[in-house]
Amino acid sequence: MTTTPTKEGSAAVQARRVLVLNSGSSSVKYQLLDMNNRSRLAIGLVERIGEETSRLLHTPLTGGDAETRERTGRIPDHAAALKEAAEELAADGLGLDSPELAAIGHRVVHGGLRFTRPTVITDEVLTEIERLVPVAPLHNPANITGIRTAQALRPDLPQVAVFDTAFHTTMPEHAARYAIDVETADAHRIRRYGFHGTSHAYVSRKAAELLGRTPEEVNVIVLHLGNGASASAVAAGRCVETSMGLTPLEGLVMGTRSGDIDPAVTFHLKRVAGMSTDEIDVLLNKKSGLLGLCGDNDMREIRRRIDDGDERAALAFDIYVHRLKKYIGAYSAVLGRVDAVVFTAGVGENSAPVREAAIAGLEELGLVVDAGLNAVRSGEPRLISPNYARVAVAVVPTDEELEIADQTFALVGRAESAGQEVPVGEVDN
Ligand code: ADP
Repeated sequence: MTTTPTKEGSAAVQARRVLVLNSGSSSVKYQLLDMNNRSRLAIGLVERIGEETSRLLHTPLTGGDAETRERTGRIPDHAAALKEAAEELAADGLGLDSPELAAIGHRVVHGGLRFTRPTVITDEVLTEIERLVPVAPLHNPANITGIRTAQALRPDLPQVAVFDTAFHTTMPEHAARYAIDVETADAHRIRRYGFHGTSHAYVSRKAAELLGRTPEEVNVIVLHLGNGASASAVAAGRCVETSMGLTPLEGLVMGTRSGDIDPAVTFHLKRVAGMSTDEIDVLLNKKSGLLGLCGDNDMREIRRRIDDGDERAALAFDIYVHRLKKYIGAYSAVLGRVDAVVFTAGVGENSAPVREAAIAGLEELGLVVDAGLNAVRSGEPRLISPNYARVAVAVVPTDEELEIADQTFALVGRAESAGQEVPVGEVDN
């Protein structure tokens, strides 16, 4: 273990581990990373928090074979979830009381317009994240609970918020503003914020690297296709347009969300179908998209059904792909010049048929997919367009946890760097 003598002369362990926490309403995902080589030491998930059937899955990655341990039984709340995760980490010699832990990085979904970059969490920052709950009622409360729980566990440690919205705060006003009454919009902070920003930032940077260029030199369209899905147009490293809006409901067809619809559909459902606002909310967020169209939201299952000749599954697939094409076309127009279209997340990284169908027929835009390259399965960033193609088409696996750890560590590291400028020396314990 490397130690650096402090100015007072006592040896202090260099803190180079970061715990990344992603707290949802009934789940906590965590990863412990060693920032010496940006490797994972352990990953885990606590799900169904508050239910009788809670479950913790923990995988230490320090040994040879990664073997997942499982705990089941009621885990009443986030505090208990984090405590159990901490016990699992401690059992692997990775306890959160370790002086090697430098910081805890939290995924926070909504940072509004105020948070344009990762931020060390103070009382004032937490209050501001709370103020954003009305625009992110499903996400920010869980993130706040996660932060409070982690603060109680290690009150001495810097806690950093990394916002899903931050990367999109560079969007110009003409892209971010909805064409509704300005006073009403401003009074209720209604505008397009965008989400998945950590992924769009990471993937657009990696895509530039894949092209052998700097982010400033390229314009890319990123298609983040997971269960939630969003597109972004990134010009010279800055987001200029994205498909999700005030909430993650807008834009592409998703696993269970409708994406774009005529807003009058909601009035219609209320007036004619007699549905309540909450029922419409559930319909559009949880019972629509691929699930609403064909009864399945997993692209693997949909492809299996299509292979078996299922017409509903085929129509759902076509609607999904049609929306993707519309966004690729629109964002090509927004960017003017496109250097790469990049697929990422569960569907984008794994579904060759989706990539093929989304790019098919776009030769006039310079977009072509090579069938052989598209069929290759790999965890690495890769091109799937032929050499002659004017615009690259790429697959870049996303890594939001690594990006959160990087941003957290960079922020904390900067604060500490003054003390490290004149290292007295290093000793091994
Ligand atoms: P999220 O983080 O939004 O929950 P992911 O990025 O993990 O989602 O993506 C999950 C989705 O990816 C699944 O619902 C499924 O549709 C799709 N998916 C995962 N693996 C494959 C695969 N091998 N082939 C096709 N689709 C896949």
